[in-house]
Amino acid sequence: MQRDSLLQALQECRARQPLNRQQELANERQAVEKCPEIGTLLEQRKNAILQGLQSAIHGIEITSLPDETLRRSQRIQTLLAQHGFPSDFLDPVYTCVLCKDTGYTGEHRKEFCSCVLRRSQEMISEQFAMADTDESFETFDDSVFSDESMPGLDISQREYAQVLRGRCEQYANQLPDSKPKNLLFYGRSGLGKTFLLRAIAKKAQQQGVAALSVTANTLLNAMRKAYFSHEEDGMRMFYETQLLLIDDLGTEPMWENITVEQLFALIDARFTSRLNTVISTNLSLSELQARYTERITSRLTDVRVCQPLRFLGNDIRKRRET
Ligand SMILES: [Zn+2]
Repeated sequence: MQRDSLLQALQECRARQPLNRQQELANERQAVEKCPEIGTLLEQRKNAILQGLQSAIHGIEITSLPDETLRRSQRIQTLLAQHGFPSDFLDPVYTCVLCKDTGYTGEHRKEFCSCVLRRSQEMISEQFAMADTDESFETFDDSVFSDESMPGLDISQREYAQVLRGRCEQYANQLPDSKPKNLLFYGRSGLGKTFLLRAIAKKAQQQGVAALSVTANTLLNAMRKAYFSHEEDGMRMFYETQLLLIDDLGTEPMWENITVEQLFALIDARFTSRLNTVISTNLSLSELQARYTERITSRLTDVRVCQPLRFLGNDIRKRRET
């Protein structure tokens, strides 16, 4: 994944070269049209440099060359200014000045330029950015929930779902300054957790808050890959995105020494950096603790930093079928 996106980013970077050459020629034509003397000077300068190169090949040194070139360049600058062009108008055009659109930097041009790394990272992130979804607070349909009181409670599942929806919408509206910064959805499947997770993601997107949405399975796969290939860059977006939404925690395979450690490192780093994270799990809090240790669970249930929201009731998917 990392390698493919790097190669693609490199190609994109290098594809700018012919476009930028065209821009240089267009600039030159424009300048010469307004001031033909510039054209003459450019021609003379080019010929003198070519001549100089040929002489150098034959071992003849032309001492006047640097002076002449400098004089012509200065005259070109004066003319550009006189005709209202910026002083760099005839300079080579590069989209990235660091690598001059070669994609590489460093002494022997062996390292990927930061523009390539950044673009590659962007492409990976795009794969996890929210796809267009119809699941939003506006399309949240509480009629799928029963309006009978839940056993032992004075509240119906529909009313309870409305409370949860309201809380999630408030969280989403306040992004990135939501209090607390993090939410944990827990409870059995089919209670609308994924729907509300996606509704938060959609709201974030509408508000221009950078969000990544990922299942725990995909996340842990990426972590495992990064761990074994030592490509930490593959994980960076999960550490840096303003909002990270992790769905279905508890369904991913457990890799010894990896799942729990990496997950703790991620959650801890995100909580410490005061970024926003929403996690959804079908596990109960005691199951969560048994699977991910006390260390992770206590972070996720520390109400100062993370609000646990319990989803209650009957599976709406089963209700729909009947
Ligand atoms: Zn570059």
